[in-house]
This record gives sequence, C-alpha cells and structure tokens, in this order.
Amino acid sequence: MKSLQELVRPNIWNLKPYSSARDEYKGVDATVFLDANESPYNIPYNRYPDPLQAEVKRLLAPIKGVGEEQIFLGNGSDEAIDLIFRTFCEPGKDNVVSLAPTYGMYEVCADVNDVAYRSVLLDTDREGNFLFSADALLAATDERTKAIFLCSPNNPTGACLPREELLKVLRRFDGMVVIDEAYADFMEEPSFLTLLSEYPHLIVLQTFSKAWASAGIRLGMAFASTEIIGLFNKVKYPYNVNVLTQRAALSLLADYSRITAWVSETKAERARLIALLEAHPECMHIYPTDANFVLVRMTDAPAMYNRLLAKGIIVRNRHRVQLCQNCLRITVGTPEEDDALLAAMR
Ligand SMILES: *Cc1c(COP(=O)(O)O)cnc(C)c1O
Repeated sequence: MKSLQELVRPNIWNLKPYSSARDEYKGVDATVFLDANESPYNIPYNRYPDPLQAEVKRLLAPIKGVGEEQIFLGNGSDEAIDLIFRTFCEPGKDNVVSLAPTYGMYEVCADVNDVAYRSVLLDTDREGNFLFSADALLAATDERTKAIFLCSPNNPTGACLPREELLKVLRRFDGMVVIDEAYADFMEEPSFLTLLSEYPHLIVLQTFSKAWASAGIRLGMAFASTEIIGLFNKVKYPYNVNVLTQRAALSLLADYSRITAWVSETKAERARLIALLEAHPECMHIYPTDANFVLVRMTDAPAMYNRLLAKGIIVRNRHRVQLCQNCLRITVGTPEEDDALLAAMR
C-alpha cells in the first residue's frame, strides 16, 4: 500500500483546520458560555452542536466494535463519500474505480469534484445473476487511481459482493478501498468493520438511513483508521451534524433493541414478499438479496411501473440502468404495504 501521505492531496495534508470556539475550550467545568456569540435564549438550540459528536460516538463505538476515534459522522453517508473525494483526489488528475450497476452517488461526487470515474461492468451468469471479479476491477486501476468504491450489499442488485473477491481487492490495491455497507444490518455475512485494523486503507460506510429507520435525520457513518478519521475531521464543516440530529441519534442508541427488532421484522417480511413475487406470472427473475429491497426482472417493467403508479404505489424503475433492463427495485415495506403492492400488480 502507498503511504497515507502519498495518497492524500498535498493541500489537505498541510491544511490547518478551522478552530471553533468550542474546540478551544475543553475540559473545564464551565457554566457561563460567552465565547461563541450565541444567544442566551431558546435553550438548547441556542448552542452550537458538539463538532465531533462525542456522546453519539461513545454510544455507537461499542455497538460497532470500533474505537470512538475510528468513527466519522456526517450529513448522511453522502457527506462521507464527498469527503473521500475532497481528501484524496486531485481534481483533473486522479481517478476512482467502481462497478456498474451500483449506487449513483459515487459517480455524481466524482463529477462534482472533477475526478475521472471509471466503472467496470459486472459479469452475469446464465440465469442473469451478477458476478463480480476482483481481477477485472483491478485491471481498470492505474497509478492515479486513489480509491475503489464497492457497495456490498450492492444497490440496486441487492446481494453482497463475494467476500473472497473483496479481500483480493483489499490485499492487492495500493490506494483507498471504500466498502459501502449501507445495508449491512440485513446481511448474514460479517461486516468488514472487523478488518479495519488489518487493512489501514479500508474505509467502511454505514448509515442511519436504512435499518436505523432514520433517513430524515441525515446521519451517515464512516469507519477507518484514526489517521484517516483525523483527516476527515479537518476537512469537514466544523458543525456538520446539528443538535436535532445528535439528539435523535442518542435516543435511537439508548434503545438499540428497537433497531434489531425492526431488522428481524424486515427480514421476515422480505422472505414473504419474495415468495409472493415468485408466484406472480409477470416476474421473470428475482435476484438474490441481502438488503431491504429486492430487484425483480419483469416481463415489461415500464408497463408495470406505470400500472403501480396509477394506483399510488411507487417502486424504483431500473429499466434504463445498464444490465437492469426490465427490472424494478422494490423496497420491503410493512405486510400491509406489500399486500397492496401485490394486489396492484395483479
Ligand atoms: C441509501 C444508501 C446510502 C445512504 O445514504 P445517506 O446519505 O446516508 O442517506 C448510502 N449508500 C448506498 C449504497 C445506499 O443505497
């Protein structure tokens, strides 16, 4: 692997971060805060939030089995994805490599940051299932490839990328390897979080938006070495996670059993939904899934999409996505919602 200094943009490596009022005061038991030009009214929203979200990280770290200093929290995983570009990729010079089809934000962030985005098409087997080979992916990298983005379980295909191939990428690539585990809670395989200490160039992304049922609070997580998290903390906006979001996260973390219960219910309902879809005459193929959605190849996806739309049921039409012709991506809902979907499909 290249050294971190070789991978990080020189301007970021040398960056002196903004020092906020709340950074400078630390430790002392203070009761009167006249340092940040805040209003004394409208408690608690009058105060700037904790820039490093210490309390949230303190509760999150044991759940994820990592150190608090290995956690970055941001305005959705999308902030973490953008930070990876801004920290490592020199606009107009560097590139990143990813797969197709996959999550659309990697390419959008690459475009915004003027970083070349190279995508390697997944293979398919005779049944049309997706295959991922590390060799094909690595062949697309060169000296200026700063990061590889891999989404596992993959969106929109649904299944985890094979663990052996992911390990091959981690062992062979000398830049950053980002594994986006937005759907980690729904998979049976172990998370790559346990390998953080073994692979210092690994970044794992997770989010409060899916299994944690909190897309509205905008809270994403990145896990990596202390050094990498330190760089992200330098580059991010000082107060990137607001008071309301931190409070909502604390209340979720105070009762983690609620989340595991939601996940078990979703997994049971996913099995029921798949069985119902399998029996539907217009479903040609149901792709294996480790997430809270299922990709389904229909006889005519646009027609089905419109039929559902007319009945007020919205699914994601992936017909125009490479290798996803006639595919709909359907999120697992409540049993009532899924029954309504099936009723509308008939
Ligand atoms: C939904 C999703 C996310 C979540 O993004 P947030 O900004 O945290 O809401 C990240 N990655 C993938 C692949 C997703 O499908």
